[in-house]
Amino acid sequence: MKEEVQSAMRKIPSMDKLLVFPWVAVYESEIGRDAVKATITEVLDVYRKKIKANHDIAFDEEIVVRDVKKLLDLKSTSSFKKVINATGVIIHTNLGRSLLADEAIKAVNDIATCYNTLEYSVQEGTRGRRGDHVEWLLCRLTGAEAAIVVNNNAGAVVLALGALAKNKETIVSRGELVEIGGSFRIPDIMALSDTKLIEVGATNRTHLKDYSSAITNNTALLLKVHPSNYRIAGFTSVVPREELSALAHKHGIIFMEDVGSGMLIDTKEAGLTDEPTVRECLEAGSDLVTFSGDKLLGGPQIGAIVGSAEVIDKLRTYPLLRALRVDKMTLAAFEATLRLYLKGSYESIPTISMIFKKPEDLKKQAECFLNQLKSYFDSTKLRSVTAEVVNTIDTVGGGAFPLSELKGYAVAVRLPELGSTGKLLEMLRNASTPIITGASDDKILFHMRTLRPGDEEIIVKAFNEFLTIQPTHGE
Ligand SMILES: *Cc1c(COP(=O)(O)O)cnc(C)c1O
Repeated sequence: MKEEVQSAMRKIPSMDKLLVFPWVAVYESEIGRDAVKATITEVLDVYRKKIKANHDIAFDEEIVVRDVKKLLDLKSTSSFKKVINATGVIIHTNLGRSLLADEAIKAVNDIATCYNTLEYSVQEGTRGRRGDHVEWLLCRLTGAEAAIVVNNNAGAVVLALGALAKNKETIVSRGELVEIGGSFRIPDIMALSDTKLIEVGATNRTHLKDYSSAITNNTALLLKVHPSNYRIAGFTSVVPREELSALAHKHGIIFMEDVGSGMLIDTKEAGLTDEPTVRECLEAGSDLVTFSGDKLLGGPQIGAIVGSAEVIDKLRTYPLLRALRVDKMTLAAFEATLRLYLKGSYESIPTISMIFKKPEDLKKQAECFLNQLKSYFDSTKLRSVTAEVVNTIDTVGGGAFPLSELKGYAVAVRLPELGSTGKLLEMLRNASTPIITGASDDKILFHMRTLRPGDEEIIVKAFNEFLTIQPTHGE
């Protein structure tokens, strides 16, 4: 047994032997000699482990070399790269949430490559405040008295709770103790901010008297959290924000709302009705509303806090604010995005324009793409291709409107000669520009709503890459 292990170990090529291959120099120029060596070690260690666990694995030097090159290829190119989103989920958190408008990109480019007025007032020739660039815009667009921005909405909630309710009590409905995206849990955020969580009501129903009877001399805040990615249906009851704010103000405490998505415009026209706009929250009496910049708002990652000037002033002096400071590129993108709202140019904001895409236009787009795909497949040796336009339900994503369905269109494709749908999805994911999508009924679906101009050609290219790498496959 031991001898078998030793003889298998001897089949693993040595580091020195691998380092003299001519292709090593190419990788060295990309990532340096040390990283090349570390990568080779990583692969060789996998073989050593496998042999120890199961000594009769079959391999030869050629296979080891192939694995080494595969890992070196991966490490020599950027892993953070563009993908095609054919899922029909507009605000896809794993795929980077909102895309920036052209105006925002231009602003980022100008600011990142030039010295700028980040904290400089050209009128006075003195130091300025970085928040000045966007706070007035947020006030105009939401009707708030004051605003402040931080790194993201999770940071906004931590900051507000810490500054306003540290060592005091914060009352939240049991139905709103939500977890968003796996790492943002309301009870954990409360603990982090040193505020005592007072849960009231039941999971499905909370009444005004549940809140009022929980208020003590030590209560600092009533907090309302938008349940974002989930809804309780059936026998439910939540207290309207008007009543919560009246109750809070009667007792001289603050009513704060984490609204999540930060909608600035009305989306009822698109059939999306179960999210309030930030302005609606403030008009209903919220003292403070927090929301994300890169969800429905369609800007960069940011956390916005808007509301009463008196309350926001208390946040300005809280030391955590400095740790959650917003970067100049983000501020540039955010200012440019907010200015598009001010102008009413909503269509220039990709997230908004994707939400409002008309089904008939998506159908036309799908028919065009179908023809493009068909003529490509006709030029190949593939014989049993099925491709058709189908109806789909697209989603907003990002925890917004979980129940709202956007009527869309996709091109559905079956290519049995190339393998199962699972195999095809893997092949598309591994294309030089990865194509991310899903399957239904044994067919891969390319949703039109989330494709950007030119993506159709890239998808055809991905099929072509695969067919040229495996020219004999399926024959
Ligand atoms: C998304 C969301 C958050 C987290 O926001 P980030 O910008 O991702 O930090 C917090 N609260 C609610 C209600 C959300 O929907």
